Amino acid sequence: MSNKPKIVVLGAGYAGMMTTKRLTQKLGAEEADIVLVNKHNYHYQSTWLHEVAAGTIDVNKVRMLITDVIDTNRVEIVYDTVQEVKKDEQQVILENSELDYDYLVFSLGFEKASFGIPGMEENSMSIESVDKSRLISEHIEHQFARYSSGKETNDDLLNIVVGGSGFTGIEFVGELAEKVPELCRKYDIERSKVRIINVEAAPSILPGFDEELVAYARKSLEDRGVEFRIGTKIQECKPNAFIVGEDNEEIKAGTIVWTGGVQGSSILSKSGFEVFKGKVNVDGDLRVPGYENIFMLGDCSWVMDKENDRPYPPTAQLAIQEADTAANNLAALLRGEQLEDFVFDNKGTVASLGGSHAMGTVFSGYKLYGKTARTMKNVIDNRYLFMLGGPKLVLKKGKLRPF
Ligand code: FAD
Ligand code: NAD
Repeated sequence: MSNKPKIVVLGAGYAGMMTTKRLTQKLGAEEADIVLVNKHNYHYQSTWLHEVAAGTIDVNKVRMLITDVIDTNRVEIVYDTVQEVKKDEQQVILENSELDYDYLVFSLGFEKASFGIPGMEENSMSIESVDKSRLISEHIEHQFARYSSGKETNDDLLNIVVGGSGFTGIEFVGELAEKVPELCRKYDIERSKVRIINVEAAPSILPGFDEELVAYARKSLEDRGVEFRIGTKIQECKPNAFIVGEDNEEIKAGTIVWTGGVQGSSILSKSGFEVFKGKVNVDGDLRVPGYENIFMLGDCSWVMDKENDRPYPPTAQLAIQEADTAANNLAALLRGEQLEDFVFDNKGTVASLGGSHAMGTVFSGYKLYGKTARTMKNVIDNRYLFMLGGPKLVLKKGKLRPF
């Protein structure tokens, strides 16, 4: 058994993969043992899951074997599911074994938040993982196949309702706007029979985002057949309908997808972490208050934006940048050096709206629309692949098709 300090990284998402990668670059092999735990043998791009859910991308394009990008001579990879972290015993309980650690990086990502809306957990699907997203696209196609076979004649079966128009809901209906005409041709169904309905409680889609870009996104989506019900709160989810608004109107559909919010992994509360709105507030150096050997990253953490006195929204961009600080700070801890505080460098927000449509802001608020925005979105995604696996990974998994 090695007597080197042991760093255990939980979760091979953006935060976990980049922390592990950076640790292999920053630490000498003699400085620490590194273990990466993930429930699957692949890493996936959560930022592309809305495309999997709509069926506009091949599932294998969004995922890659962890061993294709992480050096297994330096990192022990454990494929197992985390059940609990016993913080005081410095132990992780997995489904099939247990692991001791000296330093822990907790980066188990996000789960859907249903806010106790009756029926939402049981009756809606969600864009949370590769498997759950693929289920949505296969479900939609199955509904089209049932309808065209004549087994089901009710047009409501073809309706797709999406709850919540944050970035996930909007990017998803954008993909649907592209996919539905293709499915209509495949199953000989008139396009006008299929309704894509997005329901949002706030008075606007993408609440809080730049008004001009929001108006552009709404028009682009409406022009391609997406219907919006804004200022309409979902009260309940039934097996085949949302119940919405003050008058409990029923919107029937054969496909119901909830994109109304996310929270950090449920393993946080199971492990006794102090959780606020599903996440853990971290210190400036990304450690958990009271636990000098635990770093909390990505969608499991709240990092304060001191300028605006609120936490940064949970994004891949944030998770990737946090990984750099966490790796630097782990190296500093091992070497007895000073730790650094995390500083977020906001590079902007770009959202795809399906096909060659997109919009967003880059740098300090410069607005992009249409094909230019879509190309920028691909550049952002390819840049991550480059950081993770160099040009080979960009060529294999990148989005290289011009618009
Ligand atoms: P994740 O990426 O969720 O990774 C967590 C990992 O942990 C996964 O590999 C998972 O399988 C594993 N795991 C989970 N539980 C366990 C367990 N119990 N045991 C073992 N392994 C486990 N952000 C942007 O910045 N730009 C975008 O364009 C963007 N687009 C998005 C589009 C969609 C459709 C969605 C849903 C989100 C998008 N986001 C975007 C947000 C972004 O995806 C998240 O903020 C990001 O994935 C968080 O990274 P993470 O490393 O914390 O977790
Ligand atoms: P979100 O919390 O940002 O949006 C959820 C939406 O659902 C909100 O608009 C909210 O008002 C609405 N909602 C909640 N309860 C409702 C109800 N009962 N009835 C009707 N509407 C309701 O969640 P998200 O869109 O999943 O995004 C999660 C995170 O991922 C965010 O930080 C987001 O910025 C990030 N993200 C970024 C991108 C991008 O940069 N392109 C894409 C997707 C997600």
